[in-house]
Amino acid sequence: MTPDGMTGFSQFLTSQEGALRSGVFFGLLILFLALERLRPRRRQQVSARHFISNLAFGVLNAVILRFALPGGLVLLAIWFLTAYPMVGLMGWLNLPPFVEFIACLVLLDLVLYWQHRLFHQIDFFWKFHSAHHGDRNLNVSSGVRFHPGEALVSLAVKAVAIMALGVPVAAIILFEVLLNAASLFNHANWSLGRLDAYLQKLIVTPDMHRLHHSRLETESRKNFGFFLSGWDTLFNSYKAHPDSPHSDIALGLDDMPDDGFVQTLQRPFKPSARKT
Ligand SMILES: [Zn+2]
Ligand SMILES: [Zn+2]
Repeated sequence: MTPDGMTGFSQFLTSQEGALRSGVFFGLLILFLALERLRPRRRQQVSARHFISNLAFGVLNAVILRFALPGGLVLLAIWFLTAYPMVGLMGWLNLPPFVEFIACLVLLDLVLYWQHRLFHQIDFFWKFHSAHHGDRNLNVSSGVRFHPGEALVSLAVKAVAIMALGVPVAAIILFEVLLNAASLFNHANWSLGRLDAYLQKLIVTPDMHRLHHSRLETESRKNFGFFLSGWDTLFNSYKAHPDSPHSDIALGLDDMPDDGFVQTLQRPFKPSARKT
């Protein structure tokens, strides 16, 4: 893609950001809901209360993040790249625009891999991330079930990474869309059949991520990736197959029986035994 082409692409993405993000989110939500009925991976009953409670986290986080950073990461990047165009890594490297774009997507995915890993290793962060792992009926709505505390830390991490790397606006928008899409894809209770194992060589799949939601520590400390599966292979945290069949994996957390919205919100502020 030529520099002019990238500029036009970037302007298009910036002008359509809201429509793109909500269109992809609701389109995929409906698609995966249908696939969960047509090709379920596990037999499970997801109540309307459970589904709505999970979606409520998505709504709450969207509101809180708007207040925390008005204009979002895109406006932050526009300000930063205008004020300090040569400060970020990409400003130094001066790569061709398309190479820079791909490099930023890959590096942001790497940042989130390590963020996720540290959310499991550091007790303070685990208190918030456990809200996500408390879900015993993993389904497409689990893809937005993140405690606001985790969403805020993640926003700060992404903001720092975007400035340190000097990420172009188009890459930020596509990364956010990709992240939401990958989260819905990975958490949906649907079977890709044999394709799952092939896809796992490149990207994180539902089977690969379901293993991470196991109650066994030998499994929940594996498969931290969000989009590219190669980080888990590279950093020795990849596990291809769970100890029990996917239909039988015990999901959730032993010490978190209630996954209601309010209880889950309160969880980080209550004393509890640590169990990953
Ligand atoms: Zn996790
Ligand atoms: Zn998950």
